[in-house]
Amino acid sequence: MPKKKSSPSAAATVEQPSLAVLQAALQVSPGSAADLAGRATSPASVFADKDAASASLAQDVPEIDRLQDRLFAEGKRALLVVLQGMDTSGKDGTVRGVFSATGPLGVRVQPFGRPTSEELAHDYLWRVHRVVPSKGLITIFNRSHYEDVLVVKVRGLAPPEMVEQRYAQINDFERLLAETGTTVLKFMLHISREEQGERLRARLADPDKHWKFNPGDLEDRALWADYMKAYDTALTQCSTQAAPWYVVPADSKTHRNAVIARVVCETLKAMDPKPRAPGYRPEDYVID
Ligand code: ADP
Repeated sequence: MPKKKSSPSAAATVEQPSLAVLQAALQVSPGSAADLAGRATSPASVFADKDAASASLAQDVPEIDRLQDRLFAEGKRALLVVLQGMDTSGKDGTVRGVFSATGPLGVRVQPFGRPTSEELAHDYLWRVHRVVPSKGLITIFNRSHYEDVLVVKVRGLAPPEMVEQRYAQINDFERLLAETGTTVLKFMLHISREEQGERLRARLADPDKHWKFNPGDLEDRALWADYMKAYDTALTQCSTQAAPWYVVPADSKTHRNAVIARVVCETLKAMDPKPRAPGYRPEDYVID
């Protein structure tokens, strides 16, 4: 009997959903309703089970690092990853889980809190535009300019007619980024109100997690339905060809990370960054 060829790399390769499958399952099609209420918060059928999601994530994490290196070496384009979601939806956990192997020189994480008085003295995109990734980098927004159509809308922090203008302004802004070399990916981490309750209770129950609990989060929790409505509108108005929204079922952390890693990895692959040719001839040099 002929000996079976063994190839460790082939053996380690797991089957993964394609970008087309993820788009069909999770992307808000530009021009159509987001229908958040009709979208799952528990694992969708994208992965067979938790083991399949874990294996896919383990495969994508180093690959994202490899592709980020190439993006940096190319130095011509950038990737912006926007993370939005209710408190405890896992924005920090996503950064840790998906970019854990990505060289810190190539990735920036940018949080957005309550605007400072200087930021409020400018238009709402001022603080955002100045921290988009420069060429060669990946920047992850932990919250983003979408807060200006979410918390601002729900809590009435700006006149409604101003908020209404923002969807078109945001689409224009993101199109500008896309047309000037920045690929934009947006993920809404979709958790259920029940799951948020579990996670908040876990924070209160564990002294090591007390620092994560903010009593103010309960105010937003009480406004859950209003937030879902505001998210629905934002996702419907602002999922565009240039910058699509993905709704990621986020009650399972593994599944959430696996989905996001898949989309990021396939997007980088499609960008196909090519390191610049060196400005010298390697054969001219001999290192002693
Ligand atoms: P996180 O909850 O993301 O871990 P923080 O505890 O610092 O971080 O919370 C940031 C807070 O800032 C959130 O409550 C968010 O709604 C608020 N915020 C962010 N952007 C804006 C904005 N443009 N206007 C008002 N509040 C904002």
